[in-house]
Amino acid sequence: MRAQTSTRRRRAARYDPESMMRRRPSVVLLALAVALALAPSPATTAPAAPRAVAVTFDDLPGPGGSLLSSDVPALRENTRKLLAAFRDAKAPVVGFVNEGKLFVEGETLATAEQRAGVLRLWVEAGHELGNHTYSHRDLNTQPLDWFEQDVVRGEPVTRRLLAEKGRRLRYFRHPFLHVGLDLDKRRAFESFLAGRGYTVAPVTIDNDEYVYAAAYADARRRGDTPMATRLAEDYLRYMESVFSFIEGVSRDLLGREIPQVLLLHANALNADRFPQLGAMMRARGYRFVALQEALRDEAYGRPDTYVGPWGVSWLHHWEITEGRKRSPSPDPPEWVTKAYEAAAR
Ligand SMILES: [Zn+2]
Repeated sequence: MRAQTSTRRRRAARYDPESMMRRRPSVVLLALAVALALAPSPATTAPAAPRAVAVTFDDLPGPGGSLLSSDVPALRENTRKLLAAFRDAKAPVVGFVNEGKLFVEGETLATAEQRAGVLRLWVEAGHELGNHTYSHRDLNTQPLDWFEQDVVRGEPVTRRLLAEKGRRLRYFRHPFLHVGLDLDKRRAFESFLAGRGYTVAPVTIDNDEYVYAAAYADARRRGDTPMATRLAEDYLRYMESVFSFIEGVSRDLLGREIPQVLLLHANALNADRFPQLGAMMRARGYRFVALQEALRDEAYGRPDTYVGPWGVSWLHHWEITEGRKRSPSPDPPEWVTKAYEAAAR
C-alpha cells in the first residue's frame, strides 16, 4: 500500500524534452524527420521489437483498504479471480508478501494458516512470492537494524511455501518504493539484502492505482455500482496513459524501450479488471515475461544513486542520477482523488 506517499511526487518539475535537441540537433532532427515520414503514432503502435513487461503485485495476501473485506473467504475469492486472470493472460507474476498480514489480532493460529493457504494458491498456480517486509514500515524513517529485522521476520512462511514447490525466496521489494534518505543507508541495506540472497525488485511502471482501488472498494461496499463502474473504466484509461508516459521516458532517457516492471496491488479493482488491463497491454504490443527475464536487460545495471523522500520509478532514479529533472507522471483526475480521500475518511 502506498497511500502514505500519495502526494510524494505531485507537481514534479516540468520535463524538458528540448535538452536532447540542444545536444545533438542535426542527428535528432534527421531522426525525427525519418520517424515522422515512416511511422504512425509511436504512442499507440508497438515498436519493431516486441514490448515486454514483468507483472508484480505487492501487499499480499491483500491490501486492507482496497479489498471488499480481508476475511479469509473474501481474500481467497479475490486471489482466485486474480490468478484466473493471470492464467488467461499467460502472465507469470511475482507477488510480494507482508507476512504480518497473516496474523490478525484476535484470530487463531489456525486462521493464520488459512491465510497462508491463500498465499499457497499463488505458488500452486506457478507464480513466485517475494518479501515485502513483515509489517510494511518505511525504510526512510525506521532505523536500519530494526528494518533489517523486519525483513528477516517476513521470511519464514514465504520460504516454506516456496520450498514446497522446490523454489527459494530471492526477491525483495521496498515498501512505498522508499530506498532511503541517504546513500550510506541505502547501500548498507542493499548489502544486507545481497548477503541474505535477495535481488531487489525494481519498478519502472509506478502508478497511482491504489488511489482508484481504495475508491473502487469503497463504492462497491456502499453499493454504488455506477461509481464503481466509472472508476474502473477511468482506471483503464489512466493506466494506459501511464504506459504511454513510461514508454516515452524510456525512449528519451535510454534511446529505447526496455522490458518494464509493473507494480500493482492485489486489490478488488485488479481482481475485477486485470483481464481488461492485460488486454490493453497486449494491444500496445507487450508480452508478459518473468521478472528474472526483464532484469537481464543491461538497463537494470545502470548507475543509480537516487535517495530521497519519493517512492518513484527506477526510470526516475536513473533520470535523477544523470542530473536530469524527474519527468512528471500522469495523475488521476480530481474526481478520483476526491473519491479516494472520502474513502479514507
Ligand atoms: Zn507495499
